[in-house]
Amino acid sequence: KGAGKGIACLFEHEMESRVQAHVDLEADLRAAMDGDEGLFVFYQPIVDAASEQVTAREALVRWHHGTRGWVSPAEFVPVAEASGLIDRLGAFVLDRACRDAVQWADQARVAVNVSAVQLGKGLLAPAIRTALAASGLAPNRLEIEVTETALLGEEGAVIHDLREARDIGARVVLDDFGTGYSSLSHLRIFPFDKIKIDGSFVRDAVKRPDCAAVVRAVADLGRRLGVTTVAEGVETPAQLECIRAVGCTEIQGYVYARPAPTAGDAARVAALNDEPVPMPEPSR
Ligand code: C2E
Ligand code: MG
Ligand code: MG
Ligand code: MG
Repeated sequence: KGAGKGIACLFEHEMESRVQAHVDLEADLRAAMDGDEGLFVFYQPIVDAASEQVTAREALVRWHHGTRGWVSPAEFVPVAEASGLIDRLGAFVLDRACRDAVQWADQARVAVNVSAVQLGKGLLAPAIRTALAASGLAPNRLEIEVTETALLGEEGAVIHDLREARDIGARVVLDDFGTGYSSLSHLRIFPFDKIKIDGSFVRDAVKRPDCAAVVRAVADLGRRLGVTTVAEGVETPAQLECIRAVGCTEIQGYVYARPAPTAGDAARVAALNDEPVPMPEPSR
């Protein structure tokens, strides 16, 4: 306001176009889901720290927009969450992930991200049952990843949904551990099978002793609780060595592999070679 009327108008204009962009993205995402166009599921291996065997692969959704090209999940997942499309998107990924995983010769598990917005509504267990029945995947080959923010708010209903997933036979994983408020208290709320230490601690572990200490403490905690600990975002051999030394059970990151399409999707993805698929940048 102090800057004068012109600035205020510019601001309003920008707000308006941002709202419009959100509306457009929502409509386009809906159309993509209706037509099953441009949506892919990529997979990134999670490796046992000792044996270097692939124990699981994380399913990561990708969207190629008709005119905008690849849109990052960091942009469109929140749009899906805000518009009520997330339940359908979640069911799509879960279904695809289970169908893909039954094809894997190594019998690795498949890890599927479930948004906080999908939880606490009694919809998770039916979605899991549907996907398992359609694919024939054994329930113990499925992992459900939830972030710490899922445990805020409707706690009782969320825990009910997680318990149902566990009762079906899936593993329940706490994702991005350490980024939320009161991370430790979340371990008391639900007996998670696995904890994924957020990549931000892992990536700085080599150059910052405090980050290395956090990773070590979580790895120790996991051992005492009998819970698997995964270090995510491991990019370099130096980070890998550091993470191994502190005793994390499993490792995920560019040092082993980036998320990639299935063999069946690879040709379709390669044909969309207008620009690179969005991947979080390695840290410098
Ligand atoms: P997330 O579940 O924590 O997934 C890990 C993210 O780290 C992925 O980003 C992955 O590509 C990236 N990553 C893996 N290794 C490295 C590494 O070594 N270095 C760096 N810099 N990054 C690495 P992506 O695929 O862009 O997904 C971002 C987030 O979007 C995910 O974080 C998850 O919260 C959400 N997301 C992705 N797919 C889905 C989905 O199907 N459903 C829901 N609800 N959320 C999803
Ligand atoms: Mg995840
Ligand atoms: Mg994560
Ligand atoms: Mg994340």
